Amino acid sequence: MHRRYLAPGALAAATVLLAIPASAASSTTGAPGIGDPYYPAYGNGGYDVGHYDLRLKYQPKTDLLEGTATLLARTTQDLSRFNLDFLLDVSEVRVNGAKASFATSGEHELEITPKHPLAKGSDITVVVRYSGVPSSKSAYGFTGWHRTQDGGVAANEPEAAWWWFPSNDHPLDKATYDVSVQVPTGTQAISNGTLQSTSSRLGWTRYNWRSNKPQATYLATLAVGRFDITTSTTESGIPVINAYSKELGDNYNAARASIERSGEITDWLSEYFGPYPFNSVGGYVPNTSTRYALETQTRPFYSPARFSSGTNTSVVVHELAHQWYGDLVSVAGWKDIWINEGFARYSEWLWSEHEGEGTTQEIADYVYASHPADDPFWTVRPGDPGPDNQFHLAVYDRGALALQALRNEIGDEDFFAILKGWTAKYAHGNATVADFRTYAERVSARSLGQFFDTWLYEPSKPAAPEARAASIARKASAPVPPKSWKKLVATADVHQH
Ligand SMILES: [Zn+2]
Repeated sequence: MHRRYLAPGALAAATVLLAIPASAASSTTGAPGIGDPYYPAYGNGGYDVGHYDLRLKYQPKTDLLEGTATLLARTTQDLSRFNLDFLLDVSEVRVNGAKASFATSGEHELEITPKHPLAKGSDITVVVRYSGVPSSKSAYGFTGWHRTQDGGVAANEPEAAWWWFPSNDHPLDKATYDVSVQVPTGTQAISNGTLQSTSSRLGWTRYNWRSNKPQATYLATLAVGRFDITTSTTESGIPVINAYSKELGDNYNAARASIERSGEITDWLSEYFGPYPFNSVGGYVPNTSTRYALETQTRPFYSPARFSSGTNTSVVVHELAHQWYGDLVSVAGWKDIWINEGFARYSEWLWSEHEGEGTTQEIADYVYASHPADDPFWTVRPGDPGPDNQFHLAVYDRGALALQALRNEIGDEDFFAILKGWTAKYAHGNATVADFRTYAERVSARSLGQFFDTWLYEPSKPAAPEARAASIARKASAPVPPKSWKKLVATADVHQH
């Protein structure tokens, strides 16, 4: 997912130190980071956002984005000053109606000093007026904004919000969203949730989107361009909204033949994970030159390249599985990425079995056997991979292998009860890998510490006896790749460049 040219953790830590020495920070200054060890400057401290209202205007010709963001938040400490994360040019900030002073610092910090200090536990309203050309802005040497021939797209992980709205940019602070975007008539604006209304006037059309369940900032998305929009309803009654750039060329039909199955796949996944948690579902494909896909809430982003070999339902399964594992239950910190990717990958394996192209067991056996013990694949610890390996193949494939091993260890009944119960227990919240282990131990009534160490934390290949104990690669003969293997390989880099 990252476009990283520099070591992020180190740089971010240095930025924090330069900006605010710990000794100088007063107890009423909101922290410039929320406390994520992988990304110390991401998010902020001192408040919690409940709702973002974004009223925007975008000009595809110039990439100029103008807008007003109204944030409804609650303070979690006394605040003389607090930060938002943002890159565009701010012209005015108001806190509870009064003009506030503001300054920028670090790579993406907007420091706001309200006219009157804020007491802990107050409901506050923050209004930020801004404008700017997102494609001209970068932080840490990269941009998460994709300029297209007919517009622009915000979709990246973990960094996407900085280029289009000021936020507390970390999954720990989820909020609901109203996103209203004015674009030249003939151009469409796509975002999360349901399209509440559109209105046209004097050559401009306004799209009003609503995402009414808590949503992490990196899962908020905006795409402006010329799209064909399709609407339908799943068999279970969920509204489906898909959008395809008119400029997809030869990939157009393959994209459509894949993503139009989103409703069917959502209903299928809900049998494993519980009722679909949001107000709509779908997907969109802008004409970007990127290669990845992303689980933006209710409306995953897909690069056209995902469909260059024809239909690709695996990637649709992956991103829709994230609606539960990633979006409904989000990481508490970015080190917990396995609770997103291990499960999204395992869902692709379940789909392979559903399609008669190889069982989850066959795929797990093949993953285990096809990486020799000296393969660097095994040195990445999916349970805590480090920021540079956050989207490493091992988080996905060793991560899914761990789930098959767990399933064999505790049995189908407990395993599938966990898959469904976990999403209910932590619905609309956050969780850690350790929380998952605790939950699995409770449901299965077993101690799984050693098991999780072996499969998620040891920087080495689980030894043959341990694999056999978890019914992985029991046959001595070299396993043959399952039918679906080529498709799975093709989606292995789903979040990587
Ligand atoms: Zn994923």
